[in-house]
Amino acid sequence: MSSPENERLMILQDQVKKLQSQKDTLLKELDGVEDRYENMSRLYHKYLPVIFDTVASGDNPFSKVCKDLSVALKKGESEGKMEYIFEKVKTAMLKEDIGPVTGKKKKGLFSSILKSPSESFIDEYKLSYHEVVNNLRSNLDKNFFSKLDNITKRINQAEDTSDISNIRESVFSLIFVYISNTNQDREKVNAFVQEVVSKILDIESKLASTYQHTDSMLKSNEGFESVLSTEMQGLKQTSDVASTLDELKVQISERLAAIKSALGSKQAKDRAIREVAEKNQDAFKSGFTKLKQELNEATKYTEELEKKLNRDQLTGAFNRRAYDKKIEEEMARFLRYDTCFSLLLIDADKFKLVNDRYGHAIGDKCLQEIIKRSIPLLRKNDVLARYGGEEFVVIMPETETDGAKEAAEKIRKTIEKIEFIYKKDKVKVTVSIGISQVKKSDTKHQQVFERADIAVYKAKEEGRNRVLVSV
Ligand code: GH3
Ligand code: MG
Ligand code: MG
Repeated sequence: MSSPENERLMILQDQVKKLQSQKDTLLKELDGVEDRYENMSRLYHKYLPVIFDTVASGDNPFSKVCKDLSVALKKGESEGKMEYIFEKVKTAMLKEDIGPVTGKKKKGLFSSILKSPSESFIDEYKLSYHEVVNNLRSNLDKNFFSKLDNITKRINQAEDTSDISNIRESVFSLIFVYISNTNQDREKVNAFVQEVVSKILDIESKLASTYQHTDSMLKSNEGFESVLSTEMQGLKQTSDVASTLDELKVQISERLAAIKSALGSKQAKDRAIREVAEKNQDAFKSGFTKLKQELNEATKYTEELEKKLNRDQLTGAFNRRAYDKKIEEEMARFLRYDTCFSLLLIDADKFKLVNDRYGHAIGDKCLQEIIKRSIPLLRKNDVLARYGGEEFVVIMPETETDGAKEAAEKIRKTIEKIEFIYKKDKVKVTVSIGISQVKKSDTKHQQVFERADIAVYKAKEEGRNRVLVSV
């Protein structure tokens, strides 16, 4: 039994049921939203005061408003009041800390750590960590004080970057302990903060390892530091404007990614600079080796040139040019210091005949042999030179006639014994030697030579193969 009224009633009842279930769903969703809101609110009230207490230090306006904000959060002030304080924090941040990097000394936990590096950056770090510890002391419970004292002691004793790294880790772990003690949802928050801090540690240790470098490296760091500074300031802003923890996490991850990429490009620049330096060093080394080779070759060439200039090609004895120079020097020494010297003039006997009989080549060999056999009989300072043709001259420094005569006799006797075999003939060569010693009356070396020449002439006259001392 159905009537139009009944049908309408059933439709209406259905609609009421649907509306009731929709209402239930909405109420459930509302409950969920309220739960989430409560959770978020609880998290903000737990963490933000800690963060702002830690970030704020000193008497600057930014620190003051951070403290105000922390107090307001703890009290659970009204929305209107909170918005007013947030606005003040934002203005203070923009004025104090968030603007472009200036040389101004910054306060606060992160900015203390992120001071620009300098020559004595260890001292800078020490100062920063003292600030951080003082800041913690005024914010943490008394049961943390002994740990803070220990850290202060370690800061004072810190000598290098690894000491600083250890101190930094202790500072952060102290903060985590504090945060986790006041936190119900600690797993999530701890993981998040640990992630942030480990990345900061990583960045800082990489930075520290590249601190000792050249000017160019420092320059390449400047760009990175400004990115790092901006990003870290961004981190601070992010913690204020993020509406949920997840959003905060995402934004901080993005900032860290930017830091990572800036670090990457900085390292690439450093690498390039190092590569250039290494290349320059290699180029320098190979250039140096080449230079050494060239020097050796040049020395050899100079020696050869010197030989050509001063030595006789056939016999290897000094040539006339060298003789002229050396006799000048010896004469000058005599004239200045009255040091005596003697001169031997050696002339091969009847050498024209040797050439005529055995040929010029044998004559040459004889001349070579005369020199070869004479050299060992002379002293190191004696100068044996080919004066011309089959005539040789010996300058004997610090030698008087007697000594000269002795040497001359040895030469004469040695040469006399030389026998060249040519076909069946024995080729024999003798020499006549004239000796003269420099005299007090001598003013030119030619005078000494002339006397030796006369002595040779006389020796020839007297029958050759003999030694004669000039009068
Ligand atoms: P004396 O005993 O009077 O000195 O007779 P000599 O033949 O040695 O004298 P002279 O000055 O008449 O001749 C010198 C000769 O020495 C002429 C030349 O053939 C020879 N002579 C000069 N220079 C060279 C040379 O470089 N090689 C050869 N093989 N012979 C040379
Ligand atoms: Mg001659
Ligand atoms: Mg001769």
